[in-house]
Amino acid sequence: MKKHNFYAGPSILSEYTIKNTADAVLDFAGTGLSLLEVSHRSKEFVAVMDEARALVKELLDVPQGYDVIFVGGGASMQFCMVPYNILKTKAAYLETGTWAEKAIKEAKLFGEVEVVASSKDANFSYIPKNYTVPEDVDYFHFTSNNTIFGTEMRFDPDVKVPLVADMSSDIFSRPVDVSKYAVIYAGAQKNLAPAGVTVAIVREDALGKVDRPIPTMLNYATHIKKESMFNTPPVLPVYAALQTLKYYKQLGGIKVIEKMNLEKAAILYDEIDRNKLFVGTAKPEDRSVMNVCFVMKDEYKELEADFVKFATERGMVGIKGHRSVGGFRASIYNAMPKSSVEALIAVMQEFERQH
Ligand SMILES: *Cc1c(COP(=O)(O)O)cnc(C)c1O
Repeated sequence: MKKHNFYAGPSILSEYTIKNTADAVLDFAGTGLSLLEVSHRSKEFVAVMDEARALVKELLDVPQGYDVIFVGGGASMQFCMVPYNILKTKAAYLETGTWAEKAIKEAKLFGEVEVVASSKDANFSYIPKNYTVPEDVDYFHFTSNNTIFGTEMRFDPDVKVPLVADMSSDIFSRPVDVSKYAVIYAGAQKNLAPAGVTVAIVREDALGKVDRPIPTMLNYATHIKKESMFNTPPVLPVYAALQTLKYYKQLGGIKVIEKMNLEKAAILYDEIDRNKLFVGTAKPEDRSVMNVCFVMKDEYKELEADFVKFATERGMVGIKGHRSVGGFRASIYNAMPKSSVEALIAVMQEFERQH
């Protein structure tokens, strides 16, 4: 039976990415060696790294004055790397979910943190509005897509200070005005590659302003200067990332991908709103295009476990919601074909007919 992969992360990758990476595990770039056993300093792998960095710039229209780096440590390491490198005295953070809370906790180790607004009062089911970001902060940090709670900020906030964003779960899903940002970072395992690598886009002139000493490995400047080859990079995830980036380019770029994503999300949210059994958990205007969270309506709550079983038997994988929201979560990242979303909708309709 065909499996439809709705896992939140690690999550679905394009067939193009998986097939090319598998081929390179057997024979990398005609070297007669496996991707798993080549030197990261070989000319073939250096070319992979260079092309991957260049394609991130091309796809996201990264302006002059920015560098793209691939590093380890996950998005979670960026929670500390960002303030380590660019928090001089004070930063503003928007608290929209678990990942934002973790980023805030790390930033507090380095300076004053002003949480300008939070949606914790309603289990992070909406994006706060009408908050003020002070003009004396070094940056304003937000999580563009809240993977767990299914809310998304599909815009670059209009504030007077540089932005920093955790785009782990919606990078490459929509165009971004990079020029407004000091740092954009994303763990790869949602829209780019297998776990093990993180991409960061860093504005050069945001660096070198803090007085504290920065450990070499946590210093953006190290990785920029050495073109992400200061130490051994995660070779396989970087190779896979390059395949995904090439695939995105072949599809026609980020605007084309965004249109596909909006279509997929629209049909699924329409079904949730129409179906008598289900209700969405995120405030409609803040709904994520990547992670669609929904639960059974109160009167059908006892059917929740049944639906997971019913859907799983029909090839739906990973739709159980995160424990902090409950219910269901369908992660429909870039690589998710519309046909898989349609298959889930058919299962929801079949379940409705039986109840
Ligand atoms: C998955 C995720 C993280 C955590 O990433 P790691 O690579 O596991 O550290 C952080 N932020 C967001 C928005 C995520 O979706």
